[in-house]
Amino acid sequence: MAKVVLKNVYKSYGEVKAIRGVNLSCEEGQLLALLGPSGAGKTTTLKLIAGLEKCDGGEIFLNDRNVNEVSPFERNVAMTFENYALYPHFTVFENLAFPLRSPRRRHIYSEKDVRKKVEEIATLLGIHQLLDRRPTQLSGGQRQRVSLGRMLVTNPDVFLMDEPIAHLDAKLRYFLTGEIKKLQKRLGVTTIYTTHDYMEALAIGDRVAVINTGKVLQVGSPDEIFNRPNTEFIGKLIGDPPMNVLECEIVKKEKNYFLKIGELIHPLSARMAEKLLQEVKDGKSRVGIRPTDMQVSREKIPGYPEMEVYVSEPLGDKEILTLKKGNVSIQAKIKAGLESKVGEHLWVKFDFKRLHFFDRETGNRIHLDVEYLVL
Ligand code: ADP
Ligand code: MG
Repeated sequence: MAKVVLKNVYKSYGEVKAIRGVNLSCEEGQLLALLGPSGAGKTTTLKLIAGLEKCDGGEIFLNDRNVNEVSPFERNVAMTFENYALYPHFTVFENLAFPLRSPRRRHIYSEKDVRKKVEEIATLLGIHQLLDRRPTQLSGGQRQRVSLGRMLVTNPDVFLMDEPIAHLDAKLRYFLTGEIKKLQKRLGVTTIYTTHDYMEALAIGDRVAVINTGKVLQVGSPDEIFNRPNTEFIGKLIGDPPMNVLECEIVKKEKNYFLKIGELIHPLSARMAEKLLQEVKDGKSRVGIRPTDMQVSREKIPGYPEMEVYVSEPLGDKEILTLKKGNVSIQAKIKAGLESKVGEHLWVKFDFKRLHFFDRETGNRIHLDVEYLVL
């Protein structure tokens, strides 16, 4: 097992700056989910750790040892690829045995050892009955298990999993996320797992690192990433439907503060408004409201705004409403049962404590520490 640390790492492919000063660490035995959209630099990061690519700048450490000049073999790191990279003309057994029969390891493992090790891993992954098949005779989920098995046979110190379940159907993905998490905890091997799916990242990661355009934007627990996104980009990346983010202004009428979002005027606690005004002098910022963080009611909520139902999408146990007021459009995700009609007016109340504010220019979170404020 090993601790992985990246310090100010850079990597370009010709003109393309794939990785631009990445700092990242994954503690021993931890599962770090690297979350980012396509092209963010996830695969490149893993290849740099595995030693399949060399960095242009910065340092990579495995257990406090700088491995910049260490060969992939000596790093004892194993990587699975998005497309599984199985040898089609080999059986499952031969695919699993391949790393053990490589010129580097041939002298370590006798054929008897190879058989023993392959059988042990196949049993662990529940693919023992598939050992004589070829990859084309396997389902996507089975191929994925073989690919995981090939990573496990050499007892690596670090697992690097590159979007391991991205190509599988939703139900199987859900199942395999749980399986991989259990397996990783059981083996206790330091793991970096990439995905473009925020649900997968939050579900599987002990910690989550958000990456975009070759830079790590935030590292935190799944809870921190969801509840305290550092930037508007991260706020919108996570959640379905995504966070509503709107231009807003704090206004004061007599003694009371309000949040003005276009024609929408919503009460705001004085403590929160004053704190926000300390941070943004003109009171203008961007407010982030998750679709789940509001109350929507047919009964009048005195003092709170009314909005018109523009679209209503039933989702079984949930309902997604697109609500409008003038030019302002907000999505709400509520429990099914309201059975709202398009054109109907409903009252809306945001959950103060769960509002996010972002700087209009930089998109950075404005920290209000509202959990410590009495609203
Ligand atoms: P991700 O895995 O997050 O989708 P990648 O790490 O594969 O992103 O790619 C990051 C950036 O580097 C992208 O702009 C991609 O086009 C570019 N890139 C990756 N590999 C190569 C390569 N071998 N040659 C040129 N550009 C590359
Ligand atoms: Mg990739």
